[in-house]
Amino acid sequence: MDLYHLSDQELWAKTDEIVSQERKHTTELLWHLREISKRKLYLDRGFSSLYNYVTVGLKYTPASAMRRIKAMKLLRALPEKVQKKVEESLNTGKVSLSNVSSLQSFLEKEKKIYTPEAKQELFSKIEGKSQEECQKLFFSISTDPEKILPKEKSRVVSATETELKIIAEEKLMQNIQRLKELTAHKNSNPSYAEVFEMATEFMLNKIDPERNQEKKSERKSKVQIQAREPQVLPVQENKASQNFAAESPNSRNQNEINSKNTNAPQKAEANSNPPSEASIKRAALKRDQYRCTFKDLITGKICGCKYGLELDHIHPVALGGKSTLDNLRVRCRAHNLLEAERVFGKSVMQNYYKNE
Ligand SMILES: [Zn+2]
Repeated sequence: MDLYHLSDQELWAKTDEIVSQERKHTTELLWHLREISKRKLYLDRGFSSLYNYVTVGLKYTPASAMRRIKAMKLLRALPEKVQKKVEESLNTGKVSLSNVSSLQSFLEKEKKIYTPEAKQELFSKIEGKSQEECQKLFFSISTDPEKILPKEKSRVVSATETELKIIAEEKLMQNIQRLKELTAHKNSNPSYAEVFEMATEFMLNKIDPERNQEKKSERKSKVQIQAREPQVLPVQENKASQNFAAESPNSRNQNEINSKNTNAPQKAEANSNPPSEASIKRAALKRDQYRCTFKDLITGKICGCKYGLELDHIHPVALGGKSTLDNLRVRCRAHNLLEAERVFGKSVMQNYYKNE
């Protein structure tokens, strides 16, 4: 865009107009996000949360998304006449989106419950203030000033590195020191980064189902190699490989074959040790690659969320569905509730939703 033809006056006027429009659009966006949140429309589009929709779907940075969502939350918590006032202040630039978002963060961290009137009074105090002045105000009135301090920060510093800033409490420092002592024979003076890597690797090896599955596959391969020798296989291992193809390295393909093969159920019935419910659930998680498989049929977007996974019965248990591999699918918490809502209705499921 070439603006050389504009006079200085025109350039100033045009810029003011654009900024005014931009602010109004931002306020309008807050209301639209409010309505999308209320209707939980982001779930239908394959997003696990409003934040996920704003960052991934609308392509806002995490910080920009948080500012908008928090400002939206503050708006909806205020009485209608105050909402109008906040809207006006945002539109005219009397208060910044950042300060409105900071006010909401402050209210969320406070132990004290603020009435809508108290929130209104607080809002009037942040009008016209800079970000720094707002932070000072929050410190001066907070019931727990320690909580207001930003405790953690992460910043990308190279193509492969991120700088982390955390505040470690005494207990964590003691744990780090003890871990250093216990592993001194391997590394006499590990850095904090090395200690955290060691601790996270250890924990993930214990609780990450994907890693456990890999280990099982490795063990299975070893057993299969041994089986080629003229030895008798351990009975349990042999049965497991017959019963439960999901435990083998090519499980996904095998599972698909099993689900289509009409002889498969007969084989399972004939066996005295059918797979346990826990092993079926593990197989469902592995088949769905440890992520929510909810798909928006209009856009084709798959949720793919890896947090707080749950198993959903396609044919609900309450309606006679069984915990078979074919009847299970992986869902994040939000999409599992959506599926339940579709079956049992909104009013029944309303109690399960958290207040957002
Ligand atoms: Zn999901």
